[in-house]
Amino acid sequence: MEYLDRLIAINQMLSSELELKPQLKSILSKVVEMLSCDAASIMFYDEDEELLNFSVSVGAESDELAAIPIPVEGSIAGLIFTQRTPMIINDVPKNPDYFTVVEERTGYQVRSLLGVPIIIRERTIGVLEGLNKIEGEFTEADAQLLSLVAAQTSVAINNAHIIEELQQANEELRQADKLKADFMAVASHELRTPLGIILGYATFLKEEAKGEFSEHAGTVHAAAMRLRALLEDMTNMNLLYTGATELRLRPIQIQNMIKTIFDDISQMAKAVDYQLEFIPPSQDLWVNADERLQKVFENLLNNAIRFTPPKGEIVVRISATEGEILVEVQDSGIGIHPNEVERIFAHFYQVEHHMRRRYEGLGLGLAIARGMVDLHHGRIWAESDGPGKGSTFKVLLPRFAI
Ligand code: ADP
Repeated sequence: MEYLDRLIAINQMLSSELELKPQLKSILSKVVEMLSCDAASIMFYDEDEELLNFSVSVGAESDELAAIPIPVEGSIAGLIFTQRTPMIINDVPKNPDYFTVVEERTGYQVRSLLGVPIIIRERTIGVLEGLNKIEGEFTEADAQLLSLVAAQTSVAINNAHIIEELQQANEELRQADKLKADFMAVASHELRTPLGIILGYATFLKEEAKGEFSEHAGTVHAAAMRLRALLEDMTNMNLLYTGATELRLRPIQIQNMIKTIFDDISQMAKAVDYQLEFIPPSQDLWVNADERLQKVFENLLNNAIRFTPPKGEIVVRISATEGEILVEVQDSGIGIHPNEVERIFAHFYQVEHHMRRRYEGLGLGLAIARGMVDLHHGRIWAESDGPGKGSTFKVLLPRFAI
């Protein structure tokens, strides 16, 4: 029962401590107690050197031991390692495989020894040893117990490897992410100046040139405007990377902000084909927000028009509870499959494959919207009864008391 308690204690420790060496050290302290022995140590196999190295020990001088590599051939630990089996040796000095160098260097005399292999996924990676039973000899029961501890130890080591790999992968991802953000910042900045020139001349040509040429200039102008919208998306994405530190918060009356966008969009040439409705709240509602929050509603309204066939209905509704404001942008358009309602918020995600796309865009609009809403401690999501059944995008924002 006592053993069981200690095994459970080891297990609890494994889940509570992440650093490997302190964990191994605590395991060894428990081993010494459980086996009633003098010292314990863990050795790991070094594949390059083909040697066993002390990693941690208790009851014996760790630093000194660490400097003494143990050969795989000509040592008891090496035998346990290659034969992958526990060994009890109660008269160590007489054993032909005893590697005497450790004793010569440290002065620590080994009388009896119990060692078991440490195996991770079929691969032996080291040896766990208990040394010098205080009274009597190491027994079969001790060996079984130590094998259990070795199995737990391998779990700890495995976890530590997985965590290390995860941390490394995380760091690589972070760097890739930063590279992407830096690239977007530089690209969007550098493209702005030449684009400004193209836009300026295209506007001039559109007005000054005659007939067909004016039309061509109009096409260039429209394309450059689209490019400008894309650049704006890239810049906004970058704001999301740099995060909340860049936000300039001030109280904004939400219905004014959204009504302005609604009116602008209602005046777009395409919008005349739609039945647009704006349902304001019954009272003034304020949010503490950056002006760029308006990008959220621009994107939602633009999408509502782009993904709704002409003659469709688009309703913007603003309401509130005591603490929150709800903005709904509802359309009677192409709708969204249940599998897609969450995915559409991912960067560069578009339901239609880009080669077959009827709708232009980068697939960034909703990612920007979500990022922006997150920065304002709100929530945004989509609801739809499925393809052809229209969609409603909902934005919940904390209400600012004025
Ligand atoms: P983009 O519009 O540039 O493709 P978004 O992030 O704004 O990027 O939208 C991602 C995808 O979500 C769109 O490509 C479209 O498939 C889907 N989507 C967005 N808004 C609607 C809507 N109102 N109705 C149906 N599908 C929509």
